[in-house]
Amino acid sequence: MSDDSETEHLAFAARLLAHDDGDEYGPVVPPITQTSLFTFGSYAEMERNYTAERPRTTYSRVGNPNVRAFEEKMAALEGGEDAIGFASGMGAISSAVLAVVSPGERIVCVRNVYPDTYRFFEILLRRFDVSVDYVDGADEEAVRASLPGAQVLYLESPTSWTMEAHVVSRLAALAREAGAISIIDNSWATPIFQRPLELGCDVVVHSASKYLCGHSDTVAGVAVASRQHVERIRSGIAPYLGAKLAPLDAWLLLRGLRTLTVRMKAIEATALTLARRLAEHPAVERVHHPALMGDLPEGLHGTSGLFSVDFGDRVDIPRFIDALALFRLGVSWGGHESLAMPAKLARSQANGPNSVIDFDVPPGLVRLNVGLEGLEALWSDLENAVETSKR
Ligand SMILES: *Cc1c(COP(=O)(O)O)cnc(C)c1O
Repeated sequence: MSDDSETEHLAFAARLLAHDDGDEYGPVVPPITQTSLFTFGSYAEMERNYTAERPRTTYSRVGNPNVRAFEEKMAALEGGEDAIGFASGMGAISSAVLAVVSPGERIVCVRNVYPDTYRFFEILLRRFDVSVDYVDGADEEAVRASLPGAQVLYLESPTSWTMEAHVVSRLAALAREAGAISIIDNSWATPIFQRPLELGCDVVVHSASKYLCGHSDTVAGVAVASRQHVERIRSGIAPYLGAKLAPLDAWLLLRGLRTLTVRMKAIEATALTLARRLAEHPAVERVHHPALMGDLPEGLHGTSGLFSVDFGDRVDIPRFIDALALFRLGVSWGGHESLAMPAKLARSQANGPNSVIDFDVPPGLVRLNVGLEGLEALWSDLENAVETSKR
């Protein structure tokens, strides 16, 4: 890592660790404002508030101090003017998209996005006559060709499971040229490694349940953008769908953000070493990790701890999974604990009765989420499980 980006990391850390505004006692951690409503002392005070340009919050569905503190930190981290918190990543994604599309309009989406994003497009948006075309985000010509007439370019980089990292600045520029709004899911990289607004994207969305939280104890989401874009979501969609972020969850997210920089750097180093060792292991066919698939695209300054290993048919996957002791078996990712998720099971879920997804991921693939247990302990766990299960 260059000195410049190292300095930048430290500046980020300082911003994240800075204490939150507390009360007169100056607590370093703000109290949880666990209240549904906020009252007024008089008719006149309430009237003044209702006619103010920026009224203070009156009800926690639309505003709460803990939620606001989280939103302000996220806006600062992503380099956006404003942010809005949600009850889940899907709350953020669906609200950000619904704020800008209308019936009859079209979305262009990169392939291999998060499966529930795909289902949201295919199951829900289609009912409202919004169509979605999927393109390979690495194929700029294909993206350019599909954009004319589209309202939205939906991006996720790196993509889910296959970890294809795109040149986000190029795709954002193509969207802008075509008059489309670009929305990007930045859950994998976090603002520590990629800041899409600085790369020209219009809206950044996150599953805050992953790295932003970092402790696997919250489901939450956030959208960051210009003041105007956030206002469209905040006043046009959020109050009516009501997927609001809870005060306790916002408080937990603020707790998680304080260590985001150090967690990401530790996870990056461990995951990269594990990925490189796995890539050289004779039982491994291929490792899907952006740093092992050529140079990182411009704008991606580091890599996180979620990557996939394709064992082909060299390993008995159920035996491999059951032989793991430190890596636990589970969905989700981004927490302190290491996890393994076999594509075969994700695939059977994705192709289940309620699905339209064509989940095109090889059956010998296992997705790993690298946590904070330590490099050598995790490596011996993987080595041992491969030894037990290889064919
Ligand atoms: C988990 C995830 C989501 C959905 O977030 P929730 O908080 O579970 O609603 C969206 N995008 C990506 C890339 C994810 O991994």
